[in-house]
Amino acid sequence: MLDRSVGLGELPRLADLLTTTAGVLSVRLEGWRDEQGKSWLQLDIAGEPVLRCQRCLGGVKFPLSIRSRLQLIAPGEDWPDDDLVDDDADAIEAEAALAVLPLIEDEVLLALPIAPRHEQCEAPSANASVPGSSPFAALVALKKH
Ligand SMILES: [Zn+2]
Repeated sequence: MLDRSVGLGELPRLADLLTTTAGVLSVRLEGWRDEQGKSWLQLDIAGEPVLRCQRCLGGVKFPLSIRSRLQLIAPGEDWPDDDLVDDDADAIEAEAALAVLPLIEDEVLLALPIAPRHEQCEAPSANASVPGSSPFAALVALKKH
């Protein structure tokens, strides 16, 4: 079993979609072998990456909570019939499972909305009347989130 935090910056394909790579995903991996000798991997991923809103380009927090179960297929082993695999589980090659970060990244990318958006975007002029605010202040504020 493995428990670790994965920095969002460690996942380049995901990082491309985010307004900030500050933050982590907590990841838990557990592997076991069942009575029939099949190998399984369970992957739990939780976190709250900040996606880029497709309308206003502001940050949209997206709470993630993923649990997926993968059947590991050793090289040379037969692939399971689709009918025999339960719907929640995917099969992958055992060797591919060793590359844990891309695996985690794939699962996260699958869970994300295709076009993230705020339910209601804040008006871009909302901060304009605040004394002392400037476009740079807005940039700094963005970076902090
Ligand atoms: Zn928006």
